[in-house]
Amino acid sequence: MRQIPVMEQKFPPTPIQYLKDCVPGNEIYIKRDDLLPFSFGGNKVRKARFFYQEIKRENPDVIMTYGSGASNHCRIIANMACAMGLECHIISPEENYEETANSRMVEAFGATVEKAELSRISETIENRKKAFLKQGKKPYFIVGGGHGNPGTAAYAECYEEICRQEEESGRFDYIFHTSGTGATQAGLVAGMLLVGRQDGQKIVGISNARTEERGRQVVFDSIREYRESEFVTEKQAALLTDEAIDKNLYFTDRYRLEGYGDYNPEVEKTIRDMMLSFGIPMDTTYVGKTFWGMKQYLKDNQVSGKRILFLHTGGTPLFFTGGCIL
Ligand SMILES: *Cc1c(COP(=O)(O)O)cnc(C)c1O
Repeated sequence: MRQIPVMEQKFPPTPIQYLKDCVPGNEIYIKRDDLLPFSFGGNKVRKARFFYQEIKRENPDVIMTYGSGASNHCRIIANMACAMGLECHIISPEENYEETANSRMVEAFGATVEKAELSRISETIENRKKAFLKQGKKPYFIVGGGHGNPGTAAYAECYEEICRQEEESGRFDYIFHTSGTGATQAGLVAGMLLVGRQDGQKIVGISNARTEERGRQVVFDSIREYRESEFVTEKQAALLTDEAIDKNLYFTDRYRLEGYGDYNPEVEKTIRDMMLSFGIPMDTTYVGKTFWGMKQYLKDNQVSGKRILFLHTGGTPLFFTGGCIL
């Protein structure tokens, strides 16, 4: 197995930039996790570094994961496997399979893509694992979207990074980001509870797909699972009480439109404005849609005079897929 030098150590902090006059009435800053130094960046790179460490310990022959044709996670895992000299096997839902810059890169990285009906995904994954074992190969499976404790740990660490950056930039009243599988939000909220912060800062997950009921529950359960994991000491676990989690979990589905992949002309306008005014690319599935959602949230909740951090979670290859200026 080959090493990837950039994955060996903690990444340098990603920049926080001030977006002057971006949203009237509030000061908006953006943290550029889209600039993380591997495979076009994004939150899946932060998570992937934690999976990378585990893969090195477990020494598998093949990395397996799950995701759609638009998945940033699949691109990054396929790139990582390729760079490590490992086989990569991706299971994708057959329904609405969409070819994107991500799916084309997955192929270019030499990954095998196996399509299956959505209702038969877990069965397909289990059968494929068994088939690899039968061939004498050891598979390592990563949950879709890099969900799971390593992904949560990556964003708990990111929260500490934000706290250190606040010493220079000043403290933020809000942190907004896209909530998809929920690991990013689980990590940020866990990170906040672990540093014992109690100044009323709100971390708001804007759902791009899930309903509030389901999405919030998944984030909740992810933090509980993380609490029991090897990433957390007993002393730290005592800070992650159900009550504390519940009190600090803000998840809204008001801006998910018709769900995953859906967007409207206002999302497109937001993406054009952000590129033209600030040179920052965003996509219609995650970040551009969420940035629009954040602006709506600020209006709908009459938030003003606040210092706001928006976390850019990546998806840069999808800038070229829809809604962009091209
Ligand atoms: C996966 C993804 C998200 C959602 O992150 P979760 O940890 O799954 O909630 C947000 N933005 C981009 C660009 C993504 O690829």
